[in-house]
Amino acid sequence: SFTMNKNHLSSKQTLAIPTLSSQLGSSIVHSSLKDLKLEGNISFDNIDHAAKDFGNRYHFLPLAVLHPKSVSDISSTIKLVFGMGSSSDITVAARGRGHSLQGQAQAIGGVVVNMESLWLPEMYFQTGKMAYVDVSGGELWINILHESLKRGLAPKSWTDYLHLTVGGTLSNAGVSGQAFRHGPQISNVYQLEVVTGTGEVVTCSDDQNSDLFYGVLGGLGQFGIITRARIALEPAPTMVKWIRVLYSDFNIFSKDQEFLISSQNSFDYVEGFVIINRTGLVNSWRSSYIPKDPVKASQFKSEGKVLFCLEVAKYFNPENNGNVNQNIETLLSELNYIPSTLFQSEVSYVQFLDRVHVAEMKQREKGLWDVPHPWLNLLIPKNKISDFAAVVFGNILTDTSKGPILVYPVNKSKWRNGTSVVTPEEDIFYVVSFLSSAMPHSTGKDGLEHILNQNNRILKFCESSQLGIKQYLPHFNMQDEWKAHFGKQWEVFKGRKSTYDPLAILAPGQRIFRKAV
Ligand code: FAD
Repeated sequence: SFTMNKNHLSSKQTLAIPTLSSQLGSSIVHSSLKDLKLEGNISFDNIDHAAKDFGNRYHFLPLAVLHPKSVSDISSTIKLVFGMGSSSDITVAARGRGHSLQGQAQAIGGVVVNMESLWLPEMYFQTGKMAYVDVSGGELWINILHESLKRGLAPKSWTDYLHLTVGGTLSNAGVSGQAFRHGPQISNVYQLEVVTGTGEVVTCSDDQNSDLFYGVLGGLGQFGIITRARIALEPAPTMVKWIRVLYSDFNIFSKDQEFLISSQNSFDYVEGFVIINRTGLVNSWRSSYIPKDPVKASQFKSEGKVLFCLEVAKYFNPENNGNVNQNIETLLSELNYIPSTLFQSEVSYVQFLDRVHVAEMKQREKGLWDVPHPWLNLLIPKNKISDFAAVVFGNILTDTSKGPILVYPVNKSKWRNGTSVVTPEEDIFYVVSFLSSAMPHSTGKDGLEHILNQNNRILKFCESSQLGIKQYLPHFNMQDEWKAHFGKQWEVFKGRKSTYDPLAILAPGQRIFRKAV
């Protein structure tokens, strides 16, 4: 039998819990799993970690955790479950780092596949014009970075945080400040190896089993488990100029961002964030950034204000420092930020890319990493971003003390066509991320309930004003809501589900489909 811990769930979020309606008793399932011939192993004890994730709000205990050593371990496990047909309600969820927010990598009473155990023969590098690396689906992006750099190469498109797995981010999209130029990570992968919901191992790409390939990219784990991925690489820089400037007017800020993502020879990274009512902001930056005009910067007051910080970066190698500085000067001269708020720093490429890990270590030290994370990620069409900003920043949200709020535009043309990911209809849309941490047991403004209410107010406003937004890292409780999310892509998504995972065994934690028993 299995248990569920809903300590962190508010009454509004209580889930419909699947009942154990299987005809096959769990002891039979248990012993068949135990009898599987595996190169790795399957454990039925000490599996509590598989009922946890970064969101720290949903906790579903599985029956077992598979630690695969090979692709065939995953394939035989799924084949066994598939063979039980609908006489058992057992499901299978791949778990990357478990950095999901609402139990997406969990499987209540099912098998969780610990993807980090999957060791393929080392990473395989192809250098030359079409450079790439073949990696395990359970590989962490930070490891890929370090290995690639040994060959002077690096992936082109990133997430802000690199201690995530390839399979986990490719199942969503993988976006960061490089996406305006290169598209998300799903636009920078040449080939996948996937184990489908029937246990079949399939290689797929643009021209081989392409329907499965597009389905799996942004597919929320619904069509197969990614066991291997071929990631596009480019020559890596060694250094980064990292720049921040402030605005007090959202429309000027966003106009500059849109200018930068549409310019040739622009920065290599463009993001931005909102700062509401922060005391001593500019002072706190001084440990990492140097102000261009220290005197004026020190006179700048951030308290009581709604400010928008443009964050950009330019990659370079020391030998062309001069040219890069010239290029940056030119770009900055086109922008309309508050002149006294130009801050610059120079760091190594690794330091820049792994920046969120530094924040993680600090938060861990203070015991602030393993708290509930009621995050909300939205994709907002360009023509509605100004309406959104006017109502949300400074009105619905009156401070930004609970975590960063990112705001940056990307070009839709760089998003590979035909994948499962759903984006707004416009050529440019904004990624807006409310990355809140909730203080455990607080019933105040920094408590879970309050933050969830705020998130709901934001979502309700988007809906009532018909902003045409889409959720990124989407989460819904009802299939009708999923249908609305997918819109005209729903039929294709559903069709792919019945083709590649007809019994709805995979990634049940997304709660899009329920296994029929
Ligand atoms: P998991 O949470 O383990 O899995 C996510 C989903 O994918 C689950 O449904 C799971 O079943 C499925 N899955 C996992 N592995 C596989 C596989 N091999 N094959 C098929 N399905 C699989 N995202 C961005 O795009 N940009 C960011 O900048 C960004 N920053 C983040 C910063 C932090 C601190 C955190 C915690 C998350 C961030 N994310 C970001 C979100 C991140 O992309 C998701 O959490 C994603 O799920 C990756 O995490 P994971 O590898 O732990 O996957």
